[in-house]
This record gives sequence, C-alpha cells and structure tokens, in this order.
Amino acid sequence: MPRPRDPATPAPASVAAPDTLVRDRLGRRLHDLRISVTDRCNFRCTYCMPKEIFGRDYAFLPRAEILTFEEIARLARIFAGLGVSKLRITGGEPLVRRDLPDLVRQLAAIEGIDDIALTTNGALLRAQAPALHDAGLKRVTVSLDSLDDTVFGAMNGVQFPVARVLDGIRAAQAAGLSPVKVNMVVKRGVNEASVLPMARHARDNGLILRLIEYMDVGQSNGWRLEDVVPASQLVDMIAAEFPLDAVPPSYAGEVATRWRYADGSGEIGVISSVTEPFCGACTRARISAKGELFTCLFAASGLDLRALVRGGASDDEIDEAIAGRWRRRTDRYSELRSAETVGLRRVEMFAIGG
Ligand code: SAM
Repeated sequence: MPRPRDPATPAPASVAAPDTLVRDRLGRRLHDLRISVTDRCNFRCTYCMPKEIFGRDYAFLPRAEILTFEEIARLARIFAGLGVSKLRITGGEPLVRRDLPDLVRQLAAIEGIDDIALTTNGALLRAQAPALHDAGLKRVTVSLDSLDDTVFGAMNGVQFPVARVLDGIRAAQAAGLSPVKVNMVVKRGVNEASVLPMARHARDNGLILRLIEYMDVGQSNGWRLEDVVPASQLVDMIAAEFPLDAVPPSYAGEVATRWRYADGSGEIGVISSVTEPFCGACTRARISAKGELFTCLFAASGLDLRALVRGGASDDEIDEAIAGRWRRRTDRYSELRSAETVGLRRVEMFAIGG
C-alpha cells in the first residue's frame, strides 16, 4: 500500500519565538528530545542487547557517571528554550532507574514542555504506572514483540512472560496513561506469525500497535538486510484481514506512518526507517545516560554535555554548545544506508534509547 507520508512542512510551534529557533544544515528544527536515564536493562533482546555480549561480566556505567535527575532537568530546560516541546524518557530500561517519578515531576514543571512520554518493556510498569501518571507522565509506549510466550521469551532473552507485560499495559491504561502504544520489532523468520495476533489484540484492547522494521542500530545484533520485513508487507498483511485507510501525519517529523482501521476501531503505525527512511523530517535529539548529545540514532559519537554541566558552564554556554552542534547537523544515516554503512561504528541503542 502507498504510504501517507508528507513531510516537508515545519514542525509545530513551541515556546521559543520562531526567529530564534535553531535549524540544522538541512533546515530541520529541534523539536523532540529523547532522554536515556540508564544503560541497564532487565531484558536481553536479541536485536538490541544480546545476552552473549551483554552477559554478567558486562560493565555498565557506574552510578557517578550517569546524569542525576537535577542535571537531566537542567538540560531539558535548556533544550526547551531551543524549541523542544516533546520529551521521551527511555533507556536501557527506564523503569529500572529508582524514583523515576521524581524526574517526571521535574520535567513536567518545565515551561514549554507539553508532552512527556516513556518507552518501556513493561516489566515493572504495573507497580509504577499510577505514580508516573501522578507525576505528570502523559503516555507510555510498551515494547512487546509477540503474544506467544515461546517467541517472546526467545526474543527478550530472559524468558519474560507475555502475561506480565500485558498486566503492565492494563495498569497503564487504568492509570490514565493514554493512548498506550505497543512497539513490535519484526524480524524475518522470528516473529512475522505474531503480527496478526498482535493486531487483533491491540484492536480489541484500545492499543495502538506500532510495527518497527528491524534496524541496524549498534554493532552487536548481527543485523542483515534480509532479516528486515518491509513495513509495506506488514501493512498489507494486516489490511488483508482488516481494511486500512491512510492517515495524514499529525505533525511533520512524526516517526510512525499511520493507518486507520476502516471500521473505525483504532489505528496502527509503522516505522520503516530501513525501507523508507524519514531523515528529512527528523527533529529529534537524544541524550545518553552519561550525558552525551547525539543528533542521530546511528551516530558514532556524541557531544559531552556532562563535562559542561559538571565543569561549571553557565546555561548560556550549554545552550550555545547544543545550538552550535544542531546548526552543524547533517545526519541522514538511514537515507545513506547501504552495504558500506553496515560496518560503520555506531552507538548502541540501549545507550541512547529508541
Ligand atoms: N527498554 C525500553 C523498551 O524496551 O521499550 C526502552 C529502550 S528500547 C532500546 C526502545 C525501543 O527500541 C524498543 O521498542 C525496542 O524494541 C526498539 N529496538 C531496540 N533495538 C532495535 C532494533 N535493532 N531495531 C528496531 N527497534 C529496536
């Protein structure tokens, strides 16, 4: 099916006056910030942190190297001044970081931030959903790759049961964290058969399923192009059972391409960063758990904001460092992806979040 992508229109307005908004070399604004609060995770997904590499001996960051909540909030405030209005908390697994609602509360108080979301594997969501909502979290995206315990257990690497993720999703809905989106990474020969059961479950339970093409993030997952199931095939698979209509993007730079069920029972999204890259509309910056600024998910290195924060830099100096980096930004990795890019050095996804 043809995809309903726009996307050359500008991103929505934010608190910063239009003429002060920072733009990169390709004219893209800085609108979204993804914040990784930890590099640790309680799962070992084969496509992200395979247990053969990230085993018991793997050295995660010591606590002192990770940004404190106050440092994160200070940076987020500076980003808001540069035009960011949307934050996503991620990881690693963000819910393994203690007292996360305290961070959410600090972020929710920042002028100009009108949306705070969280991406989680859902394992610890049941217990934390009410406190996160009370602190000001608006939405969650829960990752779940299959409803089949054998398939999911193998993909999450720790045999984590589907039922407990579903419990977390229900708790999020009950707490008012809505809409709940469900991220499903599809890998050829591994979980394609789970796509239709997931679509049915999402339709029946008021969830927005987002099908994600398996990406060549990091250098640990042994990615091969032939393992990618093109998003267009996934859409066709679902449309054969439930007719779909294209939905225009709600803003430029929206990550997922959206489709609505023709019978009115909800929508799905597809994230086709391999087969149909959307770099031209990318307004996202990321900060890693140790405070590096990355301007692309596929970058090799970041700008050390922690050194500025801990070295006594003023807000203006940090603002200028971020703006300067953004102005020089030319990243469009997914559009350049080829056999040659496969061997390039790239940051691991768990270090900077999805
Ligand atoms: N631990 C959290 C979670 O599981 O949602 C947040 C971090 S995780 C890195 C963020 C998202 O990235 C998840 O939805 C995950 O499935 C996705 N992801 C990780 N590696 C990926 C890959 N190689 N290709 C596509 N998506 C990937």
